[in-house]
Amino acid sequence: MLPIREAFPLLETPKKIFITTHHKPDGDAIGSMLGLYHYLVKKGHEVTPVSPCELPDFLMWMPGVDYLLNYEAEPKLAQEALNDADLIFCVDFNDFSRTKHLTDLLAAATQPKILIDHHLMPAPVWDYGTSEPSKSSTAEMVYDFINLCGDNALIDNDIAECIYTGVLTDTGSFRFSITTAAVHSLIADLKNKGLEHSHIHEHIYDSWSASRMRFLGYVLLERMEIFPKYNAGLITLSKKELKLFNVQSGDTEGLVNYPLSIANVEFATLITERGDEVKLSFRSKGDFDVSSFAREHFEGGGHFNASGGRSKTSFNETVARFKEILSDIHPR
Ligand code: 5GP
Ligand code: MN
Repeated sequence: MLPIREAFPLLETPKKIFITTHHKPDGDAIGSMLGLYHYLVKKGHEVTPVSPCELPDFLMWMPGVDYLLNYEAEPKLAQEALNDADLIFCVDFNDFSRTKHLTDLLAAATQPKILIDHHLMPAPVWDYGTSEPSKSSTAEMVYDFINLCGDNALIDNDIAECIYTGVLTDTGSFRFSITTAAVHSLIADLKNKGLEHSHIHEHIYDSWSASRMRFLGYVLLERMEIFPKYNAGLITLSKKELKLFNVQSGDTEGLVNYPLSIANVEFATLITERGDEVKLSFRSKGDFDVSSFAREHFEGGGHFNASGGRSKTSFNETVARFKEILSDIHPR
């Protein structure tokens, strides 16, 4: 992968650009994609941002969502946009399989592919790019990219709101250790440009349905196990429970973090039985590397303190296997 700077000549004349991100996109995925979208449009390009699936409700306010194609809803249009594109940008993932439905299309695409991402161990499939696991968020890297292009002055309110959303959500509201001085300087720059941040917090954190709040109560009371011996916490949710509580896409977002708010819990896991697979989310505080853990045991990956994976065996078997592994590894 060549440094992203080497791709600048490709952007000197107007291009058709396809941007995509990972399946089940979060605030950083959509914030990065739409931030980059607004910037590239300002630079005169024709840009199509494509999400592999629908967005969670808490992101539906974001500037530019009306221009987003949802691959699941409009696969033909998305494929046409990909075929027509001169260039492909991939943000907030580093392995084609993370896009689920777009995996084979991206692998077959012959146009130059540019990566902007902060996960560990990028697949060797991009022509140009920047991969920096030390960055708080891909949105921070989009900000860096715009600056590297010499275009800080082009950051308008739409771009600022998108970048803010990505940084906010990936840093746990600026609390994770990855929140560097550079992150706070970036936010100061956006504020100096006139960004209003309170409404963004309200959209993202204060937009729950009453049933989601009650579901959280149920989860914490009935579905959370704590293993003091291993400094670990586990939440497991079966398909039946998700149906019973009419859980919507996005309603399980953030659940995995709750056990970490308990003193001495340093490793938290959420196991969810989804349609055809079992999904696992891992979070840690301190020096337990959940990215390696996910890669080694659950076909996954991600960051040092936040990762995910999946299991092909049944929900119950996965939970049992996880507990066995837990008793073997002693995360602390
Ligand atoms: P989440 O638990 O929020 O789904 O994911 C946490 C982090 O782990 C995200 O940065 C995400 O990109 C990464 N991640 C989640 N699931 C997978 C997976 O199946 N494979 C890989 N390589 N990374 C994942
Ligand atoms: Mn991210």
